[in-house]
Order: sequence, then structure tokens, then C-alpha cells
Amino acid sequence: MPRLPLILIAPSFFLLATLHVAMAGSLTNYATPLGWKEQEFSRSIISREAWGARSPLAGMQRQEVTGVILHHTGVQMKRTTSIASKMRGLQSFSQRAGHVSPGKVKPPWPDVPYHYYVDANGQVAEGRDVHYAGDTNTGYDTRGYIQIAVEGDFERETPSTQQISTLRKLLAYLLSSWNLAVERITVHSDHASTVCPGRHLMQELPSTLDLIALERRQSNLPGGLTKDECEKKDPAPLSSCTNAGSR
Ligand SMILES: [Zn+2]
Repeated sequence: MPRLPLILIAPSFFLLATLHVAMAGSLTNYATPLGWKEQEFSRSIISREAWGARSPLAGMQRQEVTGVILHHTGVQMKRTTSIASKMRGLQSFSQRAGHVSPGKVKPPWPDVPYHYYVDANGQVAEGRDVHYAGDTNTGYDTRGYIQIAVEGDFERETPSTQQISTLRKLLAYLLSSWNLAVERITVHSDHASTVCPGRHLMQELPSTLDLIALERRQSNLPGGLTKDECEKKDPAPLSSCTNAGSR
């Protein structure tokens, strides 16, 4: 193989080094560098641009992310409607005044109330910018939380395997991105009087969170409590203590 003249190699090396520095710079937004699985997952998130989002209205409140809240949409899954169309519908509904339940009116919100939306087929779309607090009908302080909605009425329906798999990947990605422990994952009913996110999603959560905690311990990432720490935790974590181990 002919040897490349040094003058050709040097600029490409310089370019690579520059690229590397630029990439490392962009990672400083993240508390921990994302693993390849998380990077791969993040590329599957359907962006606002891809689903055709309109700009948010005025009035959003900035927030520092300290945790996650899970919701169900509370309406039956629609498997044949595209996620883009659902997101556009959700945004139209969100940005105007309307009824959320008989006799209960909501004001116009600046944008969709959730930061991520997991649809019936397990696809995930970007909602409101996570740097701004979400909105709610149930009167609690939404500041500090990333709001995730999973499509379905989980008082009546069971989440699909794809939805649970996507939710697990999304949560792992968010914990790494924001340097959050698994214990910072909460559900709507922890914050307000509601059945949200529904009993069938609640049944799936402990094993899902156990698996996330286990994977994080194996990768030496923050968020996996030891069995001792887990059992002493008050209130008890959503995740059971069975997979907590020694560190
Ligand atoms: Zn909710």
C-alpha cells in the first residue's frame, strides 16, 4: 500500500481532532456521557420538527430538571393513527382553552403539557422543551420534572410490550442525560389525587425500574441503591428492593 504523504495525513488528523473536541464539547450538556445504546435510542426520538410542531406560545416557565413524572393519556390507544398526527392534535388541544373532563375547563397552555409521548406502538416523540415546566389539570407544582405520557387508559388497558420497552429505554436515557437516580422517577399519583398513570402501568413499573437500576449498577452509573439503602428508604421506592445489590 502506498504511504500517504504526511502533508495529506496531517490535515485529516487535525480535522478529526477538531471534530472530537467539538463532540466532547456538546456532551458537556450531559451529566454523564451517553452510552451507545442511549445514543442510538436518542436518534429514534421523533423531533418536534418531524411531527410538524408549531412554536410554543408565550408564558413557559424555565425549570431545572430534578426528576421524572409518568402519566397515561387516560384515553384508549389508537394504533392506526400516526404519532405525528397525534402530536399535532395534542398541541392544538393544548394551546386553546377547552374541557378536560365534564365541567372542568383548562386554560390555553403554551405547548403540549408533556416533554415526551410514547404512543401505542412504542414510538416516542419529543413534546415540550424539557427546559420548561409542563402543565397539568390537577394543581401540583410541575417545576423540576420531565413529564412523560404513555398512550392508553391503563385503568382498563394493559401497556404493550413495545411501550414498556420504549419507556425503559427512554427512562435510562433521561437518567443519564440529567444525572438522576432511579428513585427520582415518580408517577402522577405521587403528586396529586388521581389514578394516573393507571393500575396496569403501575403493575409493570417495579420490574421495569428494577431492570434500569440493575443496568445502571452494572455500568457503575448513579441510581442503583444497595439493598440496605433501598429497604430503609421512606417512602418505599416504586422499584422493589429485590435487585438492589452491594456496591
Ligand atoms: Zn397524569
